[in-house]
Amino acid sequence: MGFIVAVDGPAGSGKGTITKKIAEEMNLTSIDTGAMYRSVTLAMLEANIKVDQIEKITKLLEQINIEFKRFGNEQKIFLNGKDVSLEIRTKKVNENVSQVSAIGIVRTKMAELQREMAKSIDVIMEGRDIGTNVFPNADVKIYLDATPEERAKRRYLQNKENGIEIPFEEILENVKQRDFIDSTREIAPLKKAEDAIYIDSSNMSIEEVVNEIKNIISNKRK
Ligand code: C5P
Repeated sequence: MGFIVAVDGPAGSGKGTITKKIAEEMNLTSIDTGAMYRSVTLAMLEANIKVDQIEKITKLLEQINIEFKRFGNEQKIFLNGKDVSLEIRTKKVNENVSQVSAIGIVRTKMAELQREMAKSIDVIMEGRDIGTNVFPNADVKIYLDATPEERAKRRYLQNKENGIEIPFEEILENVKQRDFIDSTREIAPLKKAEDAIYIDSSNMSIEEVVNEIKNIISNKRK
């Protein structure tokens, strides 16, 4: 195993933006595990598979291929050879991803893939259960938080930048709903690992959060 930084937290806490910046500046590979759960959700929606059709889900997971590829500074996600980086951010996926992520076999498969991806490289991996479940022995664990309103605002602006128009109220509702499902599910729920460092980014700039986490990493990675 290489050096592992785990960044967990709820939707819109800034994990994605911050993880990417730190990865670039500290020569780590960033892995967005939410994009992986979103890809499984998209695959299930496309194949019209419901969350209780466990046999069909098992088959789908046996055949699924999820890959991250870098294009200059941009990272894209491919589902069975197709670039789905934008498709996984649609309303339909937002509304279904937490239900799909609560399925045991989906979580087992994703955690397996995530451990495989970090086998021989230094990574900064963001998600909900990285410090608690995927890498309980991660070198650095961060739990990034912010108020639901602030998080919804960030998602709204991020979507706008990507040309996706979803009303603010709708995003806020979805963020709250996903928080609830993600933190109350039975398997690997969203929660702060006991030894994770808690950062509330509500009133912090991206730079401030990046610098704070970079300092924490530097102190451990000598
Ligand atoms: O990070 P993002 O908001 O894109 O994640 C989408 C969804 O994927 C989350 O709401 C959660 O249900 C699920 N997820 C998860 N475990 C992870 C990462 C994401 O359950 N490690």
